Amino acid sequence: MSDNKFLNRLFRAYYQEKQKEIPEVSSFEFREFGFIPWEKQIMIRHIGFESQKILLNYLIDRSPKHVYSSGSLYLQPEVPDMEGKKYQSCDLIVDIDVDHFYTPCKDEHDLWYCNSCEAKGTGMIEKCPECEQSKITKLNWICDKCLDVAKNEIKKLIYDFLIPDFGTDEKDMRIAFSGHRGYHLKVESEELRKLNSDERREIVDYLTGENIAFEVLGLGEKSLMIHGLSKENVGWSQKIMKKIEEILRKPETEIRNLLLDKNIFGFNPNLVTSFLNSKNDFLELISKGERNVWAIEGFGLTNWKKLLRGIVNLIGIELDEPVSIDIHRLIRYPGSLHGKTGFKVQEIALTEFEEFTPLNEVNEKLDPIVFYSKNINKKLEIVERALPVTKIKGAKFGPYEQGDKIEVPHHIAIFLLCKGVAKTI
Ligand SMILES: [Zn+2]
Ligand SMILES: [Zn+2]
Repeated sequence: MSDNKFLNRLFRAYYQEKQKEIPEVSSFEFREFGFIPWEKQIMIRHIGFESQKILLNYLIDRSPKHVYSSGSLYLQPEVPDMEGKKYQSCDLIVDIDVDHFYTPCKDEHDLWYCNSCEAKGTGMIEKCPECEQSKITKLNWICDKCLDVAKNEIKKLIYDFLIPDFGTDEKDMRIAFSGHRGYHLKVESEELRKLNSDERREIVDYLTGENIAFEVLGLGEKSLMIHGLSKENVGWSQKIMKKIEEILRKPETEIRNLLLDKNIFGFNPNLVTSFLNSKNDFLELISKGERNVWAIEGFGLTNWKKLLRGIVNLIGIELDEPVSIDIHRLIRYPGSLHGKTGFKVQEIALTEFEEFTPLNEVNEKLDPIVFYSKNINKKLEIVERALPVTKIKGAKFGPYEQGDKIEVPHHIAIFLLCKGVAKTI
């Protein structure tokens, strides 16, 4: 039996056994569904189901590799052209996928190989550091740390933006672990559902902070003095000032490292020293909030903007922009299995979110690792050039190299087979 057939059967057994636990999305009959089968990497979409029961039968019958439903509601979701579908509205969807941004752990577990020269290495790169070519083969991996970063982005999104700035009600938010590299958040409020793509783009800009003009927030130079932002102004101004205060209250070595960090601020050591010399005065000034003349030696408008840009990047949300803007996107169906990991797409209530750890979940109902087994092992051969360490439920497997023959627990074997980096022997 081919490995794809084997995985297909396993997925079928899961859908059969767990069908009662698979949640039903809201406004079910107005959603469009999409599937990617095991045989071919093509999306079959424009499918509608009259009831969850029919969907479950479909899942048991076909047990596809990937299962999606639309954020949009249509009067006729099964009609293939967008016009004929009769679009009604769309949830606001935010997708946080660590594939799209830097996390320090990538230096440990993301591997790359240059196809133009012999170079190889670890970490997140766009082009080869040796020959500058961009023909790179990459192998991205996951670990607790990057999934934690993704989780933190969702927390920022909820507590720094959705609740205070948009007044979003907790009951309208649906959080889900994507089954691989991150989380989705769906907001199902009537107000946000009405927004068109342009308005969604504005929301995305606001959430990322990417296009903020600091002059609009009050930064400027008058009579050779720098006038800074005020924390009395709600929105971004206030967020920035709160973050600056928070940073200034950290221990000095921590502030120094942060300011020197090339991934965040990247200031030179002299400027950092100058900043630290004035840090207490600056903190006093901004916490009183009386005047906002910012005076630190070496800091003209350019360096203040650089500092503020770094602060904005710390506050803004690392989201996958097209997912939030495009109203015809499909997202993974809750309770379905992710064909590249064998993990379950897991919905999590906000009250359970703080404690949730996808790779080490102790609450069985929330555990995405549905094929977990202590006793059953499976023999595999590694087909990928090299694999980093995989750490799931506290146990480490690997690193491995091509041709290695290994015997690992069932759930690790499923993960490696789904990833396409090993084959059954
Ligand atoms: Zn190269
Ligand atoms: Zn990681």
